[in-house]
Amino acid sequence: MAKEKIALVTVANRGLGFETARQLAKSGITVILGSRDADKGQQAADQLRQQGLEVLAHQLSVTDIGSIKISKQLIEDQFGRLDVLINNAGIYPDASSGSILSSDIGTIRTAMETNLYGAIAMIQVMVPLMQRHNYGRIVNVSSGMGQLSDMGGGSTAYRLTKVGLNGVTRILAAELAETNIKVNSVCPGWVKTDMGGPNASRSLEEGADTIAWLAMLPDDGPSGLFWRDRAPIAW
Ligand code: NDP
Repeated sequence: MAKEKIALVTVANRGLGFETARQLAKSGITVILGSRDADKGQQAADQLRQQGLEVLAHQLSVTDIGSIKISKQLIEDQFGRLDVLINNAGIYPDASSGSILSSDIGTIRTAMETNLYGAIAMIQVMVPLMQRHNYGRIVNVSSGMGQLSDMGGGSTAYRLTKVGLNGVTRILAAELAETNIKVNSVCPGWVKTDMGGPNASRSLEEGADTIAWLAMLPDDGPSGLFWRDRAPIAW
């Protein structure tokens, strides 16, 4: 991939977003770390800059359209374009519950606001920064929990958000099929983060690997697919 590409990662102050930002920056991409808390974002950016990486931080909440638009304006003013968008922000409010027979509709709505509507808002605001130079790589960080072909019970809110996010990938990939903007979903596996917990089977490096790989797909690379471990998986 050519140097001086610009990437934006939603919630890169910790977890998979932080590690994805590190891997992209290590590959020579200038990475903007989105974070809800501006100070946490700056601290994360400082940490990566100390490793010699080119990163900056934007205050960004995917549920606050105003913050998304400000981030877009800053990117436009400073770089004039965006090359990579990683829709990583996610909450898991019903990890140990969430039967569909008893799920609180409010919990489902809250999860949708961040995991699904937040990603759609990011796409609507940021894709024009890709269309203008006909280049883009959009990675929607989904989950096997949203895999229809392997659907289980429980965690209804979280599962539905990831089913919806996979739908976003398909719809957007279809609409952008004639362009060099590629859209893919990824399951990072079960990863040791605040969300995944300490017993998770994968390291941050392993979890972020396919996310970063999809962000750097070549021009003849795939679009509109669901991935795990750099291989397509069933929806
Ligand atoms: P973390 O809990 O470490 O990070 C999730 C982040 O989402 C937090 O940093 C949190 O921000 C942020 N967030 C919540 N609401 C918003 C919002 N409105 N706007 C912006 N950011 C928000 O989780 P992971 O790193 O594990 O998760 C990253 C992604 O990977 C998620 O989409 C998750 O569903 C997915 N995933 C994770 C798996 C795992 O095993 N870890 C497995 C499969 C998928 P804050 O720091 O401000 O609280």
